[in-house]
Amino acid sequence: MIEIDYAQLKSDLGSGKKIAIIPHKNPDGDAMGSTQALNRFLKKLGHDSIVITPNEYPEFLKWLPEAEDVLVYDSQKEEAKTRINEADFIFTLDFNHFSRCGSLEAPLSKANATFVMIDHHQQPDTYAKYTYSDVEMCSTCEMVYHFIENMEGKDLIDAEIATCLYTGIMTDTGSFRYRSTTSTTHRVIASLIDAGADNTNIHESIYDTNTYSKLQLKGVALNNLKLLPEYKTAYITMSQKELDDHNFKKGDTEGFVNIGLSMQGYIFAIIFIENKQEGIIKMSFRSKGDFSVNEFARAHFNGGGHNNAAGGRSETSLDATIEEFLSILPQYKEALLNS
Ligand code: 5GP
Ligand code: MN
Repeated sequence: MIEIDYAQLKSDLGSGKKIAIIPHKNPDGDAMGSTQALNRFLKKLGHDSIVITPNEYPEFLKWLPEAEDVLVYDSQKEEAKTRINEADFIFTLDFNHFSRCGSLEAPLSKANATFVMIDHHQQPDTYAKYTYSDVEMCSTCEMVYHFIENMEGKDLIDAEIATCLYTGIMTDTGSFRYRSTTSTTHRVIASLIDAGADNTNIHESIYDTNTYSKLQLKGVALNNLKLLPEYKTAYITMSQKELDDHNFKKGDTEGFVNIGLSMQGYIFAIIFIENKQEGIIKMSFRSKGDFSVNEFARAHFNGGGHNNAAGGRSETSLDATIEEFLSILPQYKEALLNS
């Protein structure tokens, strides 16, 4: 764990600074919740702050209370570039390497601002003057809560900040079930409810957002599930055609990888999603127990993440990617069976 020197940060930050807050590419609930909560907190401290996402984010996260303060770099390039170039401080949240932020990688690498990193992924880079990195944390949202506490700003947590933080903790912990969920996480959640987070409403806003075509797409995923009991492994494929046939929108496949992991006795699950526009196969890896999907994704598929949740990519076809995956698996047989 790496901590921030809060006395120094506070004196550096002062007030009235221009600030940009950046989540990773394809931001999820934790990335959007943490950046928007921090944005509102920094505005309350008297700063001029904005969130800039590398690319578009899912429809099911657009109801979050600070959405008006979110710029999307891919579609609002000039304005976003200006905000990055003019920034005194840039906070990067829920990622720890510029390569995780797509087309924002170049502008961030060139920026003159003071960087602050708040993140819970493995192997943090060293670009930030202030780094708060803790791989034990369930979510960046829980870290932003502790950050606010350490900035002595707990009284500034209003219903909007609480809603953003609750959302990211909930999504990154699979609704408080993953191993990273601690008693402290639950204490933070309790205090967020006290501050005005409407837990039932948040759950419904995130999870009860199915459309008919999205449920049909889930049917395709269920149909495509392949089991490899000799490796306690299950995987799902989604071709571009299957996505197109079901009116696919960003976020529609969120959580599908967990279908495989819900098989009794299975500890490794993967989803392979074809993205013809980017010319890649996007992979999500999930595991239970000691089998590190972070190491697996890093070693073979240009990715990374956490021990039990990671992502990666391949630039070959869907069939070739699966073939490659299947050829690698025997190396991990023992680790998978002993996990
Ligand atoms: P997901 O499968 O939901 O895209 O990602 C799972 C976790 O792995 C998230 O914490 C995400 O930030 C991380 N992750 C996803 N893709 C990549 C990648 O290509 N590289 C790295 N380093 N982390 C990733
Ligand atoms: Mn996260």
